[in-house]
Amino acid sequence: MEGNELDLSARVMDAEGLALVEHSGRVLAFNTHACAHFGIPAPATVEHGRLPGCEWLRSDGTPLPPDEAPLARALAGEQVDAAVWTVLRPDGTRLRLQATAAPVKGGEGQVAAALLRTYAVESRPTVLDTSRLLAEAGALLGASVDAEAQLGPLLKLLVPALGDGALLVLRSPGKDVSVVASLHVDAGRDVLLRELLERYPPDPTLPGGLSHVFVTGAVARLCVMSEEHVTTIARDVEHARLMREVGPHGCLSVPVGARGNVLGALMLLRSNVLHAFDAEEERFLAELAHRTALYLENARLLREAREAVRQRDEFLGIASHELKTPLTPLSLKVQLLQKQVTVLAREGKPVPTERVSETLDVVQRQVRRLSRLVDNLLDVSRISAGRLRLEVEELDLASVAAEILYRFSPAAQQQGTELELHAPVPVVGRWDRLRLEQVVTNLLSNALKYGAGHPVALAVEAHGTTARLTVTDHGIGIAPEDLARIFERFERAVSDRHYGGLGLGLYITRQIVEAFGGTVQAQSEPGQGSTFILELPRGDIPEEWLTAHAAPGPSSESGPD
Ligand code: ADP
Repeated sequence: MEGNELDLSARVMDAEGLALVEHSGRVLAFNTHACAHFGIPAPATVEHGRLPGCEWLRSDGTPLPPDEAPLARALAGEQVDAAVWTVLRPDGTRLRLQATAAPVKGGEGQVAAALLRTYAVESRPTVLDTSRLLAEAGALLGASVDAEAQLGPLLKLLVPALGDGALLVLRSPGKDVSVVASLHVDAGRDVLLRELLERYPPDPTLPGGLSHVFVTGAVARLCVMSEEHVTTIARDVEHARLMREVGPHGCLSVPVGARGNVLGALMLLRSNVLHAFDAEEERFLAELAHRTALYLENARLLREAREAVRQRDEFLGIASHELKTPLTPLSLKVQLLQKQVTVLAREGKPVPTERVSETLDVVQRQVRRLSRLVDNLLDVSRISAGRLRLEVEELDLASVAAEILYRFSPAAQQQGTELELHAPVPVVGRWDRLRLEQVVTNLLSNALKYGAGHPVALAVEAHGTTARLTVTDHGIGIAPEDLARIFERFERAVSDRHYGGLGLGLYITRQIVEAFGGTVQAQSEPGQGSTFILELPRGDIPEEWLTAHAAPGPSSESGPD
C-alpha cells in the first residue's frame, strides 16, 4: 500500500482522538476528539472499518481503497505504525492526521476489535522552502519573455506546497478581470474549479476576497468559504452547487501589483480549514505576487517596445518608398526639359512655352504630393508632442465641403469618378478652417483612392448642436475587423503593392476631430463601399445658426454646384 512516512515537519496540534471498533463493526468508543478529527458525530457502527462519509487520501490526493485504511487493516490483524495521512471529511474539508491503529486480540488470539488513535497535525513550510520556492518562481518567470505562459507552471509551485488550490486572475487593458490559471490538487475538484471559474468568472465588484484586493490593493483572508458565504455570493442555484462541490476552503488573496498598479490577484485555497494561513505564508505569497507582477509588467513593456520598433521599421520602409515615388517623375521631367533646352539653345531656337508649362505642371503636382506627405509626418509628430493648435472661427461646413469637392473635381474627372454633394443649407459651427479642410480632404481623397471609380457622395447636415458630414463611396470596402484599427497610427487595411499610402490620413483625421470634441467612424461592407461619418459639436455659436436655413450659406458661392 501507499505509505505515508511520518512527517518530521509535522506538529501535533491537539488532543488524541480514540475510536474502538469491534470486529462486528459495532463502535464501542468514539471520543469527542475523534468526532472533531473526522467531522462526524460518534457512529454506532462502521462497515469494514470505514468511517461514515470519510475517505483516507494518498499523498497525491487520490482515495485509498477501503481495505487499506488504518482501521480496516487493524481489524484484519495488522499493526499500523504512526504515519501522517490526509482525511477527506463529509463536509469536503481535509485534515492531516497522525494515526496509528492496533488490533485488540480476544482470549483465543483472534482479533476482537481495533483501536484507532489520531492527532491533528500541522506542517509548516520552512524558511528554506519559501526561499527555494521564490528562487524557483524567479527562474520560471525569467525563463521566457512571455511571462503569461509561465503562470500555469507557477501555480504548480504553490499547490500542494502551500495550498490545495490556487488561482490567478488578471485585469485586462479593458478593465475586465479574467482567470489566467487555476489548479487544484484533487483531480475532480480541479475540473470543478475550472468549470466554476469559466461559467462564473470572478467579478471584482462583488463583495468577497477579490473585490477587496482590487479596491484596496491589500491582502484579504477568508477563514472558511462557509455555506453562509456561498448563499451570499452565489449568482444562481448552479453557481451555489458548483461552489459547494468544489468544497469549503480557506482563502487567501493577495494583490498582484507593480508600480502602484493592481494588475490582478493571486488566491490560495486550503481545504484543511483547521490550518489557517499564517503571517509567514501571507508575506511569502505577497512577495511572490509582487515579483510576478514585475515580470508581467516587464514582459508587457518589452512586447510594446518590440511592437513600436516593428511599426517604426515598417513605417520607415513605407515612408521612404512614398517619398521617393513623386521624385522619380519629377526628376525625369526636369531632365527631359533640360535636354530639350540644351538642344534648342544649340540650334538657336526658342523653347516652346507649352513644353515648359507642361513640365512645370508635373513638377507642381509632384511637389504638392511631396509636401502633403511631409505635412502629414509633421502633423503626426505635432500630435505625439501634444502640439496640435486650433484657431477657431465661425465657419459653414457646407461651404467648406463644397470648396474641397470643387478642388477634387479635376482629379475625379480624370479617373471618371462622379462626385455628388448634398449640402442644401449652411451648417455653421466654430472650427479651425485649415484643420477642417484637412479632415474633409482626407476623407474625400480616400473615397476617390479606394472608390474603384464609382460615384462618391458627400453630404452635410445639422442635428441641433451637432454637424454631420458623411462621405460615401462604392469601392473596395473595409473588413469588419479592420474598421476600428484603420484610425490608428500607420494602420492600413490594403497591401502597399496595390495602394500607396502611409496609413496616417485617418489617424490625423481622428485626432483633429477629437480635438474638436467630435467623432469619426466608418461603416462598410467589403466589396460594396464605405461610409465615413463625422460628427462635430458646433460649439458656442449664435442661436439663429442652430435652426435650419433654407437659403445657401454665407460663402456657399465657392461650391461647384
Ligand atoms: P492610407 O490611405 O495612406 O493608407 P489612411 O489613414 O487614410 O491611410 O487610411 C488607412 C486605411 O484605411 C487605408 O490603408 C485603407 O485600408 C483604409 N481606408 C480608408 N478609407 C477607405 C475607403 N474609403 N475605402 C476603403 N478603405 C479605406
